[in-house]
Formats: sequence, C-alpha cells, structure tokens
Amino acid sequence: MKADIVIRGCIILTVTGAEDVIRRGLIALKDGKIIYVGRDAEAPTFEADRVIDGEGKIAMPGLINCHTHAAMTLLRGIAEDKELDTWLRETIWPLEAKLKPRDIYYGTLLGCIEMIKSGTTCFSDMYFHENMVAKAVIKTGLRCVLSPGIIEAGRKMLGRILLRSAVNIIKEYGKIEDGRISVMLGPHAVYTCSPQLLKRIGEESLKFDVGIHMHLAETESGTATARKLYGKSEVELLGELGLLSPRLLAAHCVHLSDTDINLMAKHDVKVSYNPISNMKLASGIPRIKDLLDAGITVGLGTDGPASNNSLDMFETMKAAALLQKVKYGDPRIMPAKKIVKMATIEGARALGLDGLIGSLEVGKRADLILLDAKKPHLTPLHDPYAALVYSARGSDVSTVIVDGRIIMEEREIKTVNELEIISESERISLDLLRR
Ligand SMILES: [Zn+2]
Repeated sequence: MKADIVIRGCIILTVTGAEDVIRRGLIALKDGKIIYVGRDAEAPTFEADRVIDGEGKIAMPGLINCHTHAAMTLLRGIAEDKELDTWLRETIWPLEAKLKPRDIYYGTLLGCIEMIKSGTTCFSDMYFHENMVAKAVIKTGLRCVLSPGIIEAGRKMLGRILLRSAVNIIKEYGKIEDGRISVMLGPHAVYTCSPQLLKRIGEESLKFDVGIHMHLAETESGTATARKLYGKSEVELLGELGLLSPRLLAAHCVHLSDTDINLMAKHDVKVSYNPISNMKLASGIPRIKDLLDAGITVGLGTDGPASNNSLDMFETMKAAALLQKVKYGDPRIMPAKKIVKMATIEGARALGLDGLIGSLEVGKRADLILLDAKKPHLTPLHDPYAALVYSARGSDVSTVIVDGRIIMEEREIKTVNELEIISESERISLDLLRR
C-alpha cells in the first residue's frame, strides 16, 4: 500500500476507547489522513515516501487548546498579579487599543510557535483582527477555530461594527484550507455585550451555521452584575436570548448554580476549562466534576498567555487534574486518562471537530504528535496516560504533524523562522509600551 508518511515502533495512544494503548505500533498517513493505526506486526506493507523511526516515542493525537487569545503573547508579563477587572481596565484594554493588525500577526505567530513546540495542533482563538490570526495559522500550518471578538462595553455602535466584521470573517475564512480553519462568533462576555447584541449574534450564528465562543460566568462580580441588571444568572439570560445550544462554547464557567448546570446540560452547551487562568486571576474553581456528571462536554484551554502565562497544554492538563482533586477532596476525580481525553477528543467535540480530529483513527485528519519518552522524568513508563499528565512537559514533544504535514521535526519548526519571529515579537512588544 502507498503512504506519504509511516511512523513505526512507537507506543500509540489512540484515545478511542478502553483498549487504546498500542505498544510497538505503526501509523500510516496519506493525503492528510490516517490510513492505518495499529500494531506494527499486523500492519500491511507500506511503500512510504517518508519513514519515521518511532522507537522510544509516544504517538498521540495533537493537543487541542479550546480557549486562548494567542496574540496576547505580546502582553505577557506586562500586568501581573492583578484582579481581572483591574487587569482588563487599567492595562490590557488600553494596550489592546494600540495594537495594529501587523502586531497581532506577529503576536499570533509567536503563540503558534509556542503551541507547536508544546504539542498543540489545534487552537480556538478569540481576538480582534482574526484575519491576521488566519494568516499566521496558514503560515505555521496549525489548525484553528477563529472567533472574531465582539465587544460593546456601553458603545452600541462598536458592537454593531465588530459583529459586521465578524460576519465578514465567516464569509472569507469559513471554508478554506480544507477545513483547517473554521470560524465561530466571539462575543466577549455577558458583562460587555448588551442582551440586544447577544440576541443578534445568536441569530447570525444560526444564519451562517457557526458556533459561538464566549467567556461565561468567569468572575463572581460579573455574575453578581448580571443578577443585579437582569434579575437572573448569565446562563439563564443566554437561555432567554436563545444562545444556549450545542454550538455554544463557554469559557470558564466558574460561578454556576445547579439550575445553570442543568440548563447547560439540557442544551448540550460545551465548556472550556482553563484552570491556570482561573487560579492566576483568582476567579475561583469551576465545578468540573458536576459538569461532567451532568453529561456536559468539557475541553481544556490555556486562556491568553497574559493570564497564564504559557500556552503549554501539558501544564494545563496537570493543573486541570490537580485543582479538581483538591476542590472535591478526592484523588480519584479526573483520572489521567480522562484529562488526556479532555485535551484531545473532548476538546475536538467542544469545537464541533470530533468527526475530523481528536483521536488516532483511520479516516480522521492526521493531526498527531510524537513525544520523546526516553527522558528521566518519563521513566519507567508503566502508565503512559499518567506520564503525560503528571510528568511530561511541552518540551518533550519532538515531532508535530498537522493535516498530514510535518510542521516540527526533532524540535525544529519547518514552516517558519522561529528566531525571526521571537526577535520581531520582542521588538513589537517593547514598541507597544512606548506608544
Ligand atoms: Zn479568555
């Protein structure tokens, strides 16, 4: 059989079900898809353009970051140890107002190379000038869901303009790159968008058949404001406005009542759990176990690199597990395998992409990573899932493949010049502070 790439001799985590660890496995890729995954000994003979020796490596689906603002790499370390509201109003929003499209392009490129180097193959981004994000994604070879940000903050005209430009992004980027880029609408939050605007966004999402990606119930004060203004919770308000649906991706969801959780489960709303951002901004600890018990799909996100301050999903996986164990006082909660699923197949489901990516299965797009397991902190490798969640780091990722294309090999990025991006981003970030 013909193949473009064959990887052999690796431990494979297919993330497909109960028996999903294959020792001495083989993966074959052709035309951007997986055409074989299984035991090397049972594989047909492949004639491949490229054979990768997977000895000592773990192969797994690429990690999926469900919630970030990649260009915020430029703001990393600028405003530290502040409350979310102060952080946004005093530092982040004034600096963001000075960002030019080219800055966002470079900030996103920087985020992309950081993600590639830590094993993320797909990210869900919410920001302004998402056309620049698309450009960076096309250039680096990653997969992305763009969510053009829509914010009003009392200025009705601004909300209308941003919604119109978001619709233009859907028209321009909704169906390009063979599905490697898709689009959602990105209303910032209930406390920065009026009910009228949110309703319009709901209608546009139906009209264009796209999802909605927004911050929801992130802080106690935001939740209290909604109660004061509307006499109901943020979730209840969204329900009334027709926004609760399987296509809603809600980031954070820290402050939820039982009624909120039931409503979200009833409408099959998807959640992005962003533990490091929640801890850093002291937003609180979301009730992830309760969300999962209610049958809600939960993926993992880093949130923007200014509130994390890293895009490494391995750090997020570990924090995601530990924080829930502490919250519920039970070490059995959120076992390692569940966490890996949340970072892969559940994340794909949260983005509506589980038919395409999220597991290593024949017919799916070839988004996968190889980790070098011959490391002291990964030895002995009794339980590969536990190793990935509790011991591994982004820097253990050696090779990254997206849509069947090798975009990093043995830690060398193949699509862009890493050092050039680092120095230009540094220059832009310093210049931004002087503007
Ligand atoms: Zn966010």
